[in-house]
Amino acid sequence: MLIAIHPKASDKDLANVVQAIEKMGLTAQLVLGNDRMAIVVKGDAKTEEFVKSLELLPAVAEVTVAEQQWYLVGRKFCSSDTVVQVGQSRIGSRHELAIIAGPCAVESAEQTFAVADVVAACGIKLFRGGAYKPRTSPYTFQGLGLEGLRILAEVRSRYGLAIVTEAMDEESLELVDEHADMIQIGARNMQNFSLLKKAGRSSKPILLKRGMSATLDEFLLAAEYILAEGNPNVVLCERGIRTFVNHSRNTLDLSVVPLIRRLSHLPIIVDPSHACGIRELVLPLARASVAVGASGVMVEVHCNPQEALSDGQQALLPEMLAQMCTQLRAIHSAVLEKT
Ligand code: PEP
Ligand code: MN
Repeated sequence: MLIAIHPKASDKDLANVVQAIEKMGLTAQLVLGNDRMAIVVKGDAKTEEFVKSLELLPAVAEVTVAEQQWYLVGRKFCSSDTVVQVGQSRIGSRHELAIIAGPCAVESAEQTFAVADVVAACGIKLFRGGAYKPRTSPYTFQGLGLEGLRILAEVRSRYGLAIVTEAMDEESLELVDEHADMIQIGARNMQNFSLLKKAGRSSKPILLKRGMSATLDEFLLAAEYILAEGNPNVVLCERGIRTFVNHSRNTLDLSVVPLIRRLSHLPIIVDPSHACGIRELVLPLARASVAVGASGVMVEVHCNPQEALSDGQQALLPEMLAQMCTQLRAIHSAVLEKT
């Protein structure tokens, strides 16, 4: 249940709402949006009588009851676009195109700095690289862990790049929170609800990737978990879904980009690298992502992809990254003019 609060409600009237909720044995959580205040009621609170009694309270503007529904991520709760600040970047701002680039995994300081050099030279402000890698096989490279996070922190101080890296579980989330500027929750963890709740209690922005078989509602509900814990800074990322095709790693579902922009105030970016798994397809799919209205893209880059310890086949070469940046910036300007 979501209770929208009148913007001019007094503290006393607000306290009365909380009291009425707690009297029913339920939990009330105050959530502040960009332009609205609301209370999320946690627990089973569906009786009509209870809803009516809440609607009579002076602080209450509207009560919405819908099971399996997202509220806080929706345009109804917050009509203006959420802009998520990460380092110097404002992801979701109409005037900015966010490009996040870097290797799939942090393999060594040398490899990571070499890619950071290329990324910074392209004028990109956001650097990615996994220290904790969710690999399909337990026998493949699993990431450098804490050592990888320290290398990423060094990238920040040497190159002035903001760091985006994945937290795979609750333990790594604490370490990523300490070292990174943005915490990535990967596709495989999109419905790891305890991890989402913990991310919701972090003060760092979250990059939430769509699960490989998640519906649009499930994706938005996963983001709702984070917002419901009090963290409003969530960026969504479409990264391809699993379908019957075998010509590419996944199938990029670009239809969610305009749909999410219509339904939600959260920024949506696209990861064409994991969506296709093929280097030559990354650029055209990145162009399409920006054309369809994405607030940015996240791509993998490697200076020596044939030696990469993960996802070498989809890594852009340095010159391809530079080309991509030029093309995407032009498309973004054209889209801005038309919308
Ligand atoms: C990644 O971005 O490093 C990654 C593992 O992607 P995904 O969770 O989308 O598979
Ligand atoms: Mn990868």
